[in-house]
Amino acid sequence: MPRFTPLLLLLLLATRAFAVGDWTLLKYEGRDYVPLSNVGAFYYLGPLQQSGNNLILRTANRSLRGQIGSSEFYINNLKFILSYPVADVSGQPSISRMDLTKLLEPVLRPSRISHSAPVEAILLDPGHGGHDSGALSLFGSEKNYALDVALRARELLRAAGFRVFMTRSSDRFVPLEERAAMASRLPNALFISIHFNASGNDATGVETFTLAPRGVPSMANDGPALSDFAPCAGNVRDAENIALACAAHATLVCNSAMFDRGIKRARFVVLRESATPGVLIEGGFLSNPNDARRIATAAYRQQMAISILQAVQNYRNAVGPRQGLPVASNSAPARNSTGPTVITPSTATQ
Ligand SMILES: [Zn+2]
Repeated sequence: MPRFTPLLLLLLLATRAFAVGDWTLLKYEGRDYVPLSNVGAFYYLGPLQQSGNNLILRTANRSLRGQIGSSEFYINNLKFILSYPVADVSGQPSISRMDLTKLLEPVLRPSRISHSAPVEAILLDPGHGGHDSGALSLFGSEKNYALDVALRARELLRAAGFRVFMTRSSDRFVPLEERAAMASRLPNALFISIHFNASGNDATGVETFTLAPRGVPSMANDGPALSDFAPCAGNVRDAENIALACAAHATLVCNSAMFDRGIKRARFVVLRESATPGVLIEGGFLSNPNDARRIATAAYRQQMAISILQAVQNYRNAVGPRQGLPVASNSAPARNSTGPTVITPSTATQ
C-alpha cells in the first residue's frame, strides 16, 4: 500500500472530483463542494463570469453573486450569509454542498420543496415583554416596539384572511420555551418572531435569522460548537425555513430601504424547538441614532407590519400547494424544470 504524507493526502483529497447525477462534487477542507459553473448550468443561469475574486451568474431576471473567500452571497441582490465561504477548489470557484442543498435549492425553486405544509395560520411572536424590556433607545423599548409591530401585522393578516395567533398580545413575560411550545401546537402555521437589535453606535440595518441546519455553526456564536450537531425539532423544516426567511427579508429590505445585513443562521430556542417553519426578524438597531429614530415612528412600524403580510403572501404563493415532489433533500438537487416562482425580488436595494 502506498504511503502518503499528510500534505500529499490533502492534495489528493482536494483535487478528487466525482459526479453525482448532474453534479460534480469536489472535496475541500473535509466538505463536499460544487463548482459554481455547475450551479449555473443546472439552474440555467449561464456561464460563470469571474473578475478577480468576484463571481457572478446572471440571466435577465436572476443573479447569483459571490466572492472567493467570502460568506456573503447575493441572490437577486438580496444578501445571504453562507454557512461556509465560497472557495477556490483546484481553480474552480465552488460553493459548499450544504449551502447548495440548504439554501440555493429551496430559495431558487421553492415550489419544489417536498411535503411543505399549507399556510393556514400565523403565530406572531413579539420578543421580550414584562420585566424583560429587551434593547432600549432614547425613545422607547424593544418589547413595546415589537408588540406594536405584531399588533399591526395581526390586523393586516386577519384582513387578508389568515388565522392569527400571538405568543403575547400585552406587556407580559413569556418564557422562550413556552413560545416554541405554542408554535408546536399549531398545525400548518408559520412562526414569525419580531425583535430589534442593539450593539455599538455604528451597527445599522435589518437582518433575518432562521434555524441553522444540523452540523452548521450558528452565526450567533463564535465558530463551531459541539451543540451544532445536536438534533433540533426545527430541522425537519430546513427548506421551508430558508424560503420563509428569504420572503421575510426581501420585503423587509425592499420596503424599509434599510442596510441589508443578510439572512443568517442561528439556533435560538424559538427557532429550534418547534417543527413550525419560522424566522426571527431584527428590524433595526435601537443603539443606532438613525435606526432608533425611524423605529420610533408609527410609519416605520406599520411598514414592518406590511412587510410581514407581504412576506407571508409571497411565501405561500412561492411554495404553492403541496406537490410531494422529491427534491430539496440532503442529497444533491435533481434536475427538472426550474420553478417559475422566485421569492427574491428582481431588484432589492442594498
Ligand atoms: Zn430581542
